[in-house]
Amino acid sequence: MRITSVAMSTTSDPALVVWLVRDTCRVTDNPALARAMKEAHRAQATVVALACLEPRRWTDSQFGLARSGRDWRRFRAESLLALRASLEEIGGALWIDADGPVEVLSRILETHAVVSVVTDLPVASEEESENAALAALDLQVLSVPTDELFDSSQIIMALDQLPSSFTKFRKTIEEKHRAEPLPPIATSRLDGSPAQPWPDPKALTESLGYPISDMTEVEARGGERAANDLWNAYLASGALSFYKKTRNAFSGRTNSSHLSAWLAHGCLSVRAVWHDILHYEQSHGANESTYWLRFELLWREFFRWYARHVGSRLFRRSGPTRRALDVTVNPEALAQWSAGVTGMDIVDASMRELQATGWMSNRARQLVASYLIYEAGLDWRLGAAWFESRLVDFDVASNWGNWAYIAGVGPDPRGGRIFNLELQADRYDPDGRYRQHWLSAVGS
Ligand code: FAD
Repeated sequence: MRITSVAMSTTSDPALVVWLVRDTCRVTDNPALARAMKEAHRAQATVVALACLEPRRWTDSQFGLARSGRDWRRFRAESLLALRASLEEIGGALWIDADGPVEVLSRILETHAVVSVVTDLPVASEEESENAALAALDLQVLSVPTDELFDSSQIIMALDQLPSSFTKFRKTIEEKHRAEPLPPIATSRLDGSPAQPWPDPKALTESLGYPISDMTEVEARGGERAANDLWNAYLASGALSFYKKTRNAFSGRTNSSHLSAWLAHGCLSVRAVWHDILHYEQSHGANESTYWLRFELLWREFFRWYARHVGSRLFRRSGPTRRALDVTVNPEALAQWSAGVTGMDIVDASMRELQATGWMSNRARQLVASYLIYEAGLDWRLGAAWFESRLVDFDVASNWGNWAYIAGVGPDPRGGRIFNLELQADRYDPDGRYRQHWLSAVGS
């Protein structure tokens, strides 16, 4: 971040504060939007929200695989249109473009003075570089923690310990700091933002056309309203009181919260979820299960700060721990794993569910990762990249962090996780119904 003079245009169009929307598609409890409003008020400027369908996510590839899946793109397109509607209700506007932020901001600078660009604190190295490139345009870039439970100042001692284990991180927060996420902030009205000066990109409308599979257990529609509906229904079901007992199941609408896609696209504020759990505990009673959902949200938190700490090492084969790994190059094994035809039922069922729906339970993710790394002996990054190209809830820190963790090049003091796949399948799918369902529903 750097402070510079206001980047100027030569026209009389209104000066702008640009809220650059990355992965926080909501107006509720949005510190970046609130900061943009404050900056605009101070500089007598107008806020405009800008979302870029960045080529790095929408069209680029890695290891020969797309950087996003059709489910992810559809969900993001829905979330952006819902965000636009919410912004319009409070007097704002959302501009959407298919270029990257640097290209779009360069164009905007031809017609508007830009006071500052406010965005969420980068999680990974690409966003970090993008912010640096924006600053090189002489723009003031303000990065605001928007999608975390804690501001860094609340958990300094825990951050000082990175890259330590999750347990150390969690205990420092829970026991030494006794930190609690701040309550959600209120949303104010905007003064009226200028309308988008160009038509919506084709990729946006095309993505909306991709249907949700009728095999999906929980229909994942993007947007803040859909997020709240799902979360409120989960709370009303009372399933939270049993979460710890059910969360490892491979399927079941309320066996886990199913919040991941809405959290990954920022349709739901993680702090609001945390405080809703506290309210639930007051009215329904607290137990190990109600605590455990907050425990899982702390895993998400941990991986976000961890990704920031380790930077681009998260994406190297030797990972943040710089551990040399022997891997096999075996395109056939990779193709079998991706298509769900390895001959190991639990892996095949889970991979077919992912292929058909863009989703997979946490237990299944761990097992298929263990298979790819330890049974097939492949480079863990191929698995991470496959997930990135398929998951509706893809989140850079959670995905690459969990893969590195299982591969033993991330924050696991035990140096990786090898699962006994048969035992795990029989334990969490005792009647074999999940395996049977996906093996017969999606042919090989
Ligand atoms: P719940 O059990 O209800 O948990 C609630 C929330 O806590 C989740 O929505 C998620 O935000 C967070 N959470 C839970 N477990 C984890 C975890 N292990 N790490 C980080 N956050 C967690 N999650 C993603 O959101 N995006 C990803 O791209 C992703 N990739 C993964 C890759 C691998 C190899 C593994 C093992 C896990 C991955 N996860 C990822 C974490 C986890 O599997 C999903 O968040 C979870 O399955 C989503 O289901 P849920 O919302 O019902 O979870």
